[in-house]
Amino acid sequence: MALTLDDIGLLFARHGHTQYTGEPVTQLEHALQSAMLAEREGAAPALIVASLLHDLGHMLETHGEPHDTPTMAGIDDLHQYRILPFLRPLFGDEVLAPIAMHVDAKRYLCATDAAYFSMLSEDSVRSLRLQGGIFDERQAADFIARPHAADAVRLRRWDDLAKREGLATPDYRHFSRYYAQCLRA
Ligand code: FE
Repeated sequence: MALTLDDIGLLFARHGHTQYTGEPVTQLEHALQSAMLAEREGAAPALIVASLLHDLGHMLETHGEPHDTPTMAGIDDLHQYRILPFLRPLFGDEVLAPIAMHVDAKRYLCATDAAYFSMLSEDSVRSLRLQGGIFDERQAADFIARPHAADAVRLRRWDDLAKREGLATPDYRHFSRYYAQCLRA
């Protein structure tokens, strides 16, 4: 159940053009904008790669069709976890943990940053409820104490900003060059 680097490129090539449901960008645009924000802030290669791949779970295929964001249908697709077994043979925790934690990072930020909730998109607020809602104080403290939580929070902030229609970014090959620096030995 492993993907190769070529498989990842293929998933983007096949499904990158699909609309990010409820947002004015495609899946590929969203991934590239996320990675660009990470790169601009001087993030380590592993966190740039995590930003590029954080929603790849939406592009996994079931019967040849990509999995779409099903929030409208009232379903939490758990995309942050679905992708992990496919990526684990390639990358270590510094890539995988921020991906796995990027949904809980939203629940954390809503609990700890008053301005954050107000800037969330409509679809993001809808999915928040499905994903378990805002953390209470204890849950927030437990979350941020976990390894890689700070990286997950950084990724989450880029994720939320990476929904800008028509924004110019470097292409996929620009960011896929970082894979080589993050591969398991
Ligand atoms: Fe995202």
